[in-house]
Amino acid sequence: MAAPARDKSKLSKEQKKLLRKQVKAQHILLKQDGIATVSVPTKHLVIANGGLGNGVNRQQLNEVLQKFGTVETLLMLPHKPHAFATYSTIQEAREAYNALNGQNIKTTENTQPIILYLNFVEEVVSNDIPPLSLPPGLLVVEDIISPEYEKRLLAFADESPNTAMENGKGVLLAQKSLKHRRVKHYGYEFRYDNNKVDKDKPLPGGLPEVCDEFLDQCMEKGYAKFKPDQLTINQYEPGQGIPPHIDTHSPFEDGIICLSLGAETVMDFKHPNGLHVAVMLPRRSLLVMSGESRYLWSHGITPRKLDVVSSPETQKTGTITGDISNLTLNKRGTRTSFTFRKVRTLPCNCGYPEVCDSQSFRKCSDPPPSVPSSDGDASKLEHKYVHDVYDEIAGHFSSTRHTPWPKVTKFLKALPAGAFVVDVGCGNGKYLGVNKDLFMVGCDHSKNLAHICRERNFEVFICDGLLVPLRSGVCDACISIAVVHHFSTEARRLSAIKEIVRLLRPGGKGLIYVWAMEQERNKVKSKYLMEKHEKTIKTQENCTTMPEVDEDQETNKVDLACFNQLADFNKDTVNKQNSARLPVHTNRTAFESQDLLVPWHLKAGIKANSVSSLPPTGPNELAVFHRYYHVFSDGELENICRSISNIRILQSYYDQGNWCVIIEKY
Ligand code: MN
Ligand code: ZN
Repeated sequence: MAAPARDKSKLSKEQKKLLRKQVKAQHILLKQDGIATVSVPTKHLVIANGGLGNGVNRQQLNEVLQKFGTVETLLMLPHKPHAFATYSTIQEAREAYNALNGQNIKTTENTQPIILYLNFVEEVVSNDIPPLSLPPGLLVVEDIISPEYEKRLLAFADESPNTAMENGKGVLLAQKSLKHRRVKHYGYEFRYDNNKVDKDKPLPGGLPEVCDEFLDQCMEKGYAKFKPDQLTINQYEPGQGIPPHIDTHSPFEDGIICLSLGAETVMDFKHPNGLHVAVMLPRRSLLVMSGESRYLWSHGITPRKLDVVSSPETQKTGTITGDISNLTLNKRGTRTSFTFRKVRTLPCNCGYPEVCDSQSFRKCSDPPPSVPSSDGDASKLEHKYVHDVYDEIAGHFSSTRHTPWPKVTKFLKALPAGAFVVDVGCGNGKYLGVNKDLFMVGCDHSKNLAHICRERNFEVFICDGLLVPLRSGVCDACISIAVVHHFSTEARRLSAIKEIVRLLRPGGKGLIYVWAMEQERNKVKSKYLMEKHEKTIKTQENCTTMPEVDEDQETNKVDLACFNQLADFNKDTVNKQNSARLPVHTNRTAFESQDLLVPWHLKAGIKANSVSSLPPTGPNELAVFHRYYHVFSDGELENICRSISNIRILQSYYDQGNWCVIIEKY
């Protein structure tokens, strides 16, 4: 087992010590890496302590080994403390063994010399390390720009904020020294507190002009699917890095492109299953992260001064772990990266919901909310399951809400010219322009919906339906269409109606619509239920008289999974009072509970341009959001109105799955 036969009794103290150490090295090699050493000399040596993991550079080791003959292969694996050398003859290997065993090797990085312990092995086995390829969707394009262009970009990155502003382009609002690196933002500021951008707060000046040439090239060649509108410039000194992360899905589109300037680096990509791929990013190369590599794999740069890289003679490809036969250590230089992203307008609908912040409802990891037992709980519930959701789905929601319901229109058209009318919870403002003779103002809690109203040139303000910032008695009429059912306690629903009454002048009229528990009346199914059957002949017009027609009517499996889980939650909490979890409604079916979550199946309307040669984003899945509803039972809305002293009910009716009242203040 031990080294080639020696008479141990004749060994000096020194030699005995060496032998002990050598045997120890054998044990470590066997125990930690399954490398079996042999006592009979072979062409192959394993050199304990001579590995990259010990800071030994390929070139240094090679110089030492070549003194004894021709080194056919030198295998140095990432992070391993040992190396393998194969000589062309056994004799050469034996000479190296005799001369180097127990000898020092000095490395530039270690002040302490490293002592090498050599052993023979039958063969060099490296097939326990699987050949790795780049993560799916990842692309490294070498020499994407010229050295001259690199110079210009680096000069730009070094410019002071003032200079940048004097140029009138690329106004720099953020220059920060993060703990680990210097960073500048253009287009939108990247917020490190929430890893998002403020989509409605673009920085003035847009992207710097110096980038145009590069971006045009990326668009032309299909490296970018969307023209980027956000740029982050990072500068990493040797020893600086960035912790592993996935770029948050909701703020940015697929296809993040990153230019490496000044020096190369190694970026570590990790799959959630633990698979690790180290990717070499050469100087002046472009990194494209799309699809799985953008959405599912984390990426980061380990803060260190040395990288394991393919030795320069063979270094051609982006992945360094794909070819492990030629690795060495490389000193880092100062690297400047230009990362370009496109800010998203719609939530992410990628195929990786487990890591997608836009699809957090799908995870079912949070217990679903309970029916609130206090006003505070109710407010929180409405915030998460009403306000946040409408803000997220605003664009898509609005695209399904173009036609006013006839009876609401009739109410508005019957009002006298010049009447001041407020639509409380106006959504996308579809009633604000119904009667041009009225002075109509809308308000909504969702700033994104309010923004849509503003774009349509309607008067709108943002407020809470319980606290409308208008003086009492100023309105000739108010409407509240499909709003009061989003308040999650009876007291709050009453307050919402009282707030409308407060706004009305004596004699002023209010129209209130809420969703009905009863979706079938006098054996006639509501249009909501009918949609299911009409689905195949569905046209753009199908939203005409419909409350809450979800664009997508598929009942998806995720909902059922959530639903089952909800049932379990309910079972778990039977003994806790008021903790009944809200059930998730299956769209286009009868309601089974008055308090529930109604899924909104979000459709991303934007199709990726086909110019791209990049892999598709992922399966065409929909994001699902859950909205809280209290569906009203027969008589419930009337009863609430009757409890309010200064109004009378002029009319109470059922309209296509809604309970409706027209009230008058006196
Ligand atoms: Mn990133
Ligand atoms: Zn996503």
